[in-house]
Amino acid sequence: MENKTVIKVENLRKWFPIRRSFFATLFSKEELYVKAVDGVDFEIKEREVFCLAGESGCGKTTTARTILRLVEPTDGKIYFDGDDITHLKTKELKPYRIKMQIIFQDPYESLNPRLSVFDIVSEPLQVNKLYESQRELKEKVATALEEVELIPPERFMYRFPHELSGGQRQRVAIARAIITRPRFIAADEPVSMLDVSIRAEILELMDRFKREFNIAYLYITHDLSTARYVSDRIGIMYLGKIVETGNIDKVLDDPQHPYTQALISAIPVPDPTMKRKRVILRGEPPNPIYPPPGCRFHPRCPYAKDVCKEKEPEMVKVGEEHYAACWLLS
Ligand code: SF4
Repeated sequence: MENKTVIKVENLRKWFPIRRSFFATLFSKEELYVKAVDGVDFEIKEREVFCLAGESGCGKTTTARTILRLVEPTDGKIYFDGDDITHLKTKELKPYRIKMQIIFQDPYESLNPRLSVFDIVSEPLQVNKLYESQRELKEKVATALEEVELIPPERFMYRFPHELSGGQRQRVAIARAIITRPRFIAADEPVSMLDVSIRAEILELMDRFKREFNIAYLYITHDLSTARYVSDRIGIMYLGKIVETGNIDKVLDDPQHPYTQALISAIPVPDPTMKRKRVILRGEPPNPIYPPPGCRFHPRCPYAKDVCKEKEPEMVKVGEEHYAACWLLS
């Protein structure tokens, strides 16, 4: 039986208006926007990890925050378990919010330093009144701490974040995320601030919850090595758009888009005798207020031709479960 689709986004856009000085508005009435997410489509099934990867500022985090309705979408559709949640009001969103959680990159910043581990982990249950008694609340927190391997839970429950290591803090953040038994978790660079030695442990923990609780993950990273380790499918983002997507091994082993090829060629190869052709990117990503016309990657692309500067390439099938948007492939 095929797994159900938990999250689906269609043509998702999030543009942030730019506030301009009074004098600037005298010279031009044009409204300016940072086009952080500019027409993104994908879906994530239960027990599936979909990775969004790309350079910082490409729109990965804004995509996650928009799906969770932490910021309002400018355009497009967001479906959760088949329900259109794009424009639901705060009260109507409440039952969905319980089933959608986020894990942030920095466990030092994301946990309130004034709250104990018990207060942090129990917060989603308290806010949504998902317990009958204090005893039940304590039992649920203890179970969540055991599930993230903070054992025995009594040893950790009344500690404060500053008394924990980085790995333990991220386990607390995960305990808070799973305590409501969510269907969907957005994990925004969840291990990039942690020591290399504990990254695998945290990723394995997330993988176990995926299988045990049927969770669908959006895994955001700029690190393609961890992306391969945890993800089933990937979308490579550039300047607010997905330029290549598909099965993780197919995209990383046989990248078709020049931008994906450049990202992969920058990953160090563990075997010094193995040679990989390095694709050097020119310059920095362009300003998302003024994305280039045609293919947004053309000012940096070593293969750009005239059509690339004028017309935007469509996403085309380049293999089984593998799609890319580039004029070289059309
Ligand atoms: Fe490069 Fe043109 Fe392909 Fe864009 S469409 S990636 S500019 S070759």
